[in-house]
Amino acid sequence: MQITVIGGGLSGSEAAWQAAQAGCNVKLFEMRPTVPSPAHETDYLGELICSNSLGSSLPERASGMLKEELRIMNSLLLQIAEETALPAGSALAVDRHAFAQRITQTLEAHPKIEIIRQESTTIPDGPAIICTGPLTSDTFSSALSEFTGSDHLFFFDAIAPIVNESNIDFSIAFRASRYDKGTNEEGDYINCPMNKEQYFSFVDELVKAEKIKLRSFESDIQSGVKAGAGHYFEGCLPVEVLATRGVDTLAYGPMTPKGLMHHTEQRPYAIVQLRRDNLAGSLYNLVGFQTNLKFPEQQRVFRLIPGLQNAEFYRFGQMHRNTFLYAPAILDASLQTKKRTNLFIAGQLTGVEGYMGNIATGLLAGINAARVMNQQAPFILPETTMLGSLVKYITQSTQKDFQPMKANFGIIPALPKRIRDKRKRFLAYTERGLSDLQSYLNQNK
Ligand SMILES: Cc1cc2nc3c(=O)[nH]c(=O)nc-3n(C[C@H](O)[C@H](O)[C@H](O)COP(=O)(O)OP(=O)(O)OC[C@H]3O[C@@H](n4cnc5c(N)ncnc54)[C@H](O)[C@@H]3O)c2cc1C
Repeated sequence: MQITVIGGGLSGSEAAWQAAQAGCNVKLFEMRPTVPSPAHETDYLGELICSNSLGSSLPERASGMLKEELRIMNSLLLQIAEETALPAGSALAVDRHAFAQRITQTLEAHPKIEIIRQESTTIPDGPAIICTGPLTSDTFSSALSEFTGSDHLFFFDAIAPIVNESNIDFSIAFRASRYDKGTNEEGDYINCPMNKEQYFSFVDELVKAEKIKLRSFESDIQSGVKAGAGHYFEGCLPVEVLATRGVDTLAYGPMTPKGLMHHTEQRPYAIVQLRRDNLAGSLYNLVGFQTNLKFPEQQRVFRLIPGLQNAEFYRFGQMHRNTFLYAPAILDASLQTKKRTNLFIAGQLTGVEGYMGNIATGLLAGINAARVMNQQAPFILPETTMLGSLVKYITQSTQKDFQPMKANFGIIPALPKRIRDKRKRFLAYTERGLSDLQSYLNQNK
């Protein structure tokens, strides 16, 4: 029994592991380092290309619920994330290097997985899982487009810059977690406070700063490909675009001082938070500061943030393409393609957004590909589970303007009796989903 997995990112690594654990021989194709991607920086499998946070672990949060489901279903990547976790309040943030290195070593050591460092250019005829992600190579994009018979959709995302800790001015910046909820007594985040005047002049410079022209993306759009709202995915709007929506938008958004004001003598008007990016604590990313400013402009404008006046940039923020398919026409809730039952698609290509969501679809596709090869019915998870409802959303959406979807409680069926308190309601969703998942797995061994 052999399965080909194309793409060794988050979904492909999890899919390969699940299929191999279920007894299949897996050939995992990863194009890096032979063919680089526009955003990956290493040769590792499972590289996180932007934030190092995999979202909240709290059971009353959608991403916390998804993590609990992945734990029940023995996700390798969740286990490795927990082993390489960094202090980040109630979020699961990891040392990105250690995380990806351990995934690579674990898959390399699996006796049933063969890793082939080569770009796939065609869709295999035999059993396969396609996990080539938002930055699918051009040649393979054409093969996919030919297979699906529909255009890909492109939209834009942006990534945030990372600075070195050693150049941060701690006579201004301070360590703390919002509402002191961190795992570390000192506080998990570095905070750069601004008074009203500093904030207004920062926003003014941000809005005026020079941006990178989106020529290659524009040509995608002009060639008849649809783009998301304003050509950006709303959840990942560049900070300079957010700033144009009103002078106080940032102060009420990513720069809100809420939960941190008691740490400063004078009440700050806004605060820029920096989250640790590696175990050594030498690198920090600017939370919510995804950007498309020209690199020298990022240096100039972000050095206006008090405490970052001497900041040294380890990586600048960047825009990137994001490719996904029109899943309702292409996929079933088992993640099998409608055209071919031995061909699966997982990860961001399906229209599921977010690291955990992409790991989760990889897990489901890996398990289901092995089940189909073993003549077993594939799993179609209960829609009361976060993964079940995400897959239902992308495969059954009737929206003409189909957009990627992150784990969230809005897509889960309502409880039989409404609970007014939000936290209790979300906890009830999680409790119901986990219990339904467990019963489903017991009944469908
Ligand atoms: C720049 C960027 C920033 C993002 N930031 C975040 C974030 O901060 N938080 C978040 O939750 N989500 C983020 N996302 C969205 C998404 O969660 C991640 O991209 C996630 O890694 C997607 O998982 P995946 O498995 O679908 O793709 P990937 O993890 O990208 O894996 C795809 C793999 O396939 C390989 N590949 C591509 N084409 C071929 C081919 N033809 N043959 C062989 N191999 C191939 C690639 O090299 C890559 O290793 C971001 C996406 C992008 C593009």
